[in-house]
Amino acid sequence: MASNWLLLRCRCGQSFGARQGTKPSCSRCGESSQITTTAVFTDPNTLTEAVANANLPSEISQQIENKLNEKKRKKLKSRDIANAGTIQRILKQSTDERGVLTLQSLRVCLDIEGVTEPSAEQIIGMAELQGVVHRAGEDEWKWLA
Ligand SMILES: [Zn+2]
Repeated sequence: MASNWLLLRCRCGQSFGARQGTKPSCSRCGESSQITTTAVFTDPNTLTEAVANANLPSEISQQIENKLNEKKRKKLKSRDIANAGTIQRILKQSTDERGVLTLQSLRVCLDIEGVTEPSAEQIIGMAELQGVVHRAGEDEWKWLA
């Protein structure tokens, strides 16, 4: 059964594609009521191309943004790899009032500190090996000290 593919445009300016008959919502803002159909295609490949063309200006700005972020990341690189003292501090910060540490809380703290290396899993693994924390449940660690 052949179906039509729609090139849609949201009021936010985002163009996106959807199969005819589905309830489309904007791929950028999630809006689903103020969508207009700007073109109809019979095959999804043509649609994909049309979507890419329609979003070209914002895609280019996205690319520039990515480049800038990459530059920023590189600049921060030396700071990204945390030393033992920083890790210790982050571990403490990630611990709640019950003395429980989770990967999730650790990830949040690493994010706040801008630390990308080592990962939350690696830090927990190291702390476990060093006997600083022990596993207290599914995704839960407790301090031994
Ligand atoms: Zn939108």
